[in-house]
Amino acid sequence: MTIIAYVSIFYFGSIFGSFFTVLGTRIPIKENFTTKRSHCVACQHTLQTKDLFPIFSYVCHRGKCAYCTTKIDALYFTSEIISGFLACLLYYFYATDVLQLVALASVFSLLLVISIADYLYLLIPDRFQLLLLFGVVFRQAVLPVADWSAAFISFFVIFSLLFFTCLALPDGIGGGDVKLLSILSFTFGLEPTLFIILLASFSAGSYFLHTHMTKGSSLQRRVPFGPFLAAAAVVVHFAQVLLIH
Ligand SMILES: [Zn+2]
Repeated sequence: MTIIAYVSIFYFGSIFGSFFTVLGTRIPIKENFTTKRSHCVACQHTLQTKDLFPIFSYVCHRGKCAYCTTKIDALYFTSEIISGFLACLLYYFYATDVLQLVALASVFSLLLVISIADYLYLLIPDRFQLLLLFGVVFRQAVLPVADWSAAFISFFVIFSLLFFTCLALPDGIGGGDVKLLSILSFTFGLEPTLFIILLASFSAGSYFLHTHMTKGSSLQRRVPFGPFLAAAAVVVHFAQVLLIH
């Protein structure tokens, strides 16, 4: 029964992941995500219901468009898988605390949408940041013991630290990343946010070196830092949860 429940939760999460991909791919380029039907970006063919099953459709068509056989970006498949896993993890740790579950699901969902936007367009739209801000305030409000003064202090410290780093090193961290980390620090706290920065810097640096050495990339494209920050935030959060358990 437990396995069936988790498989169902995983697939339920992957359906949301599919929707988050639509948000992350369309909103930054101001494409309508409510009326315009899903289509292949290569041949523009409108996708049928059978092409829209998360994970299955991608696997059945071997990662290619069913109409023109153009390779589909693994981003769609990856975000569906990640979303499914996150849904299972949240259910495992927060099934008895629905408000925390909803708040964290909102924060992690927005982090996924932000990662997709940053990965594709190297930008994090302010409207996503604003929604994330609502998400972290909501999460802070439903914490069993919420320390609001610590939340404001960590927000202020992280923002100041990164803002001046951004001024001193304009080619370093981007403005979107400064906002993202400041918002996250509000609910994650000062020390965990510093861990997030360390972990994200290390993983982004490793990815950068790996890409450079294996593909001989000319490195003309900036490495999006948002997905690394988002992934590090999720890892640090669950590491903290496990430590407390
Ligand atoms: Zn196509």
